[in-house]
Amino acid sequence: MLTTTKVDTFKNLIDGNWSETQSGQTFLSINPANKEEIVGVFQASNEEDVRQAIDAASRAFPQWAATAPSKRATILNKAADILEQRADTLAEELTREEGKHVNDARNEVLRSAQTLRFYAVEGQSFTGETFPHDDPNMKVSTEREPLGVISVITPWNFPISIPARKIAPALITGNTVVFKPSSDTPLIAFRLVEALQNAGLPKGVINFVTGKSSDIGDLLVTHQAIKAVTFTGSTAAGEDIHSKASFNTRTQMELGGKNPIIIMDDADMDLAATLTVNGAFSLSGQACTGTSRVIVLQNVKDAYMNRLIEKTKNLKIGNGFEEGVKIGPVANERQLQNILNYIDIGVKEGANLVYGGNQLADDQYAKGYYVEPTIFTGVKPNMRIAQEEIFGPVVAVIEVSTYEEAMEVANRSDYGLSASIVTNSLHIANDFTKKIQAGTVKVNRTTTGNLMNAPFGGFKKSSTATFRESGRVGLEFFTQVKTVYVGY
Ligand code: NAD
Repeated sequence: MLTTTKVDTFKNLIDGNWSETQSGQTFLSINPANKEEIVGVFQASNEEDVRQAIDAASRAFPQWAATAPSKRATILNKAADILEQRADTLAEELTREEGKHVNDARNEVLRSAQTLRFYAVEGQSFTGETFPHDDPNMKVSTEREPLGVISVITPWNFPISIPARKIAPALITGNTVVFKPSSDTPLIAFRLVEALQNAGLPKGVINFVTGKSSDIGDLLVTHQAIKAVTFTGSTAAGEDIHSKASFNTRTQMELGGKNPIIIMDDADMDLAATLTVNGAFSLSGQACTGTSRVIVLQNVKDAYMNRLIEKTKNLKIGNGFEEGVKIGPVANERQLQNILNYIDIGVKEGANLVYGGNQLADDQYAKGYYVEPTIFTGVKPNMRIAQEEIFGPVVAVIEVSTYEEAMEVANRSDYGLSASIVTNSLHIANDFTKKIQAGTVKVNRTTTGNLMNAPFGGFKKSSTATFRESGRVGLEFFTQVKTVYVGY
């Protein structure tokens, strides 16, 4: 039974007005720790809403592009102030909507504010270059111009920090935005847009539409006024979007991963187990950079596995508001079934299920989507559980005899988002960073976690081979270069 008392309805933002969808339909955002609790009611938008949002963004573009960068920066900074002032409330809303621990949620809100501030500064000094010319009376330089209207399409797992790292560089460089968040986490996305609007963004500069990708996804990608689509989500959706975008529409796709950690035989086994547990099971395994393959040298496998299982046993599973909880619910019913299905596949493929493997559905877990942290050993590199993204708290342990074999197995993947090695050998660490096919490479650290001020993106099917996100280079995607020759 769904809780129906005191539930707020949230609107789209189109041309500066909070408005209801033309479809007349709404959908519910539900708490994954308590399926009976409605977090909010949202607009199930249709293509007419999207058309209006894109038209508003197109009309707002010339003036916003001509607005002084310092004024744009002031608005981003004010929005950051709002997020920081409301951090506790927003963190609670994020946890109710997505399930991660409230401390992680608070960190995410604060990091999003920091991202707005970072781009407020970086965007003001992001310029072109000048080039030497044989003619002393000729000046050749490049300028960076905004693209126009940008579609921002985001997932639920980092529901405010991912939108912030796309929207902030888009706005500071003079673009206007139409933003569609995941239908699992529309409330925290709404709060980000609300903060930007209340900070003083002119009408139409940011537009917000919620709803199903099957209803509005295509138009957000194919409308002729959309100059770029910045997307984070599954590889399947990314490939679909990339194939539909026109020749003149730029795309930036941050997609799935199957991230390995290699455990060398000279490693500190306690550290190796801690890094695995944190990388594989924090955020309930629902991080794109989460550890999903462990590649361990045979001669230390037993010592490593003993510690891994011991540490996994100590993880507290529960509601993200409870003290000490490390594993919250997974995001929704679809996620739950997908993870359980992969556990079943692993068993049928002949891997050894040595820990976990079950849904938790009794007592305190009865109303939520909970899965035990799960460990398979005896996994062969070509098994589906070693090749396909599961996006849950499931780790596949593969034994190898040598470092060379470990590298071959690590690179035997369609994905290349993040990878780590645990070793005390500088030589091995150096070789690993050179040969591993991944956009983020770690030594003696978890596969998860990336700096806001450093580039982020993947190799192979984890990204389009185009523009990196995050950091200063994150601005490049949102601008085009014009080369200017001036003769004096
Ligand atoms: P998803 O692909 O199902 O959805 C992501 C967003 O795209 C949602 O807003 C959804 O409504 C929309 N969408 C889906 N199909 C679309 C289409 N055909 N056209 C237009 N829009 C479409 O992903 P999810 O379940 O929300 O998130 C989990 C996935 O995201 C995992 O695969 C994970 O690895 C990936 N992810 C990647 C990164 C990264 O930076 N590489 C970060 C976080 C999550």
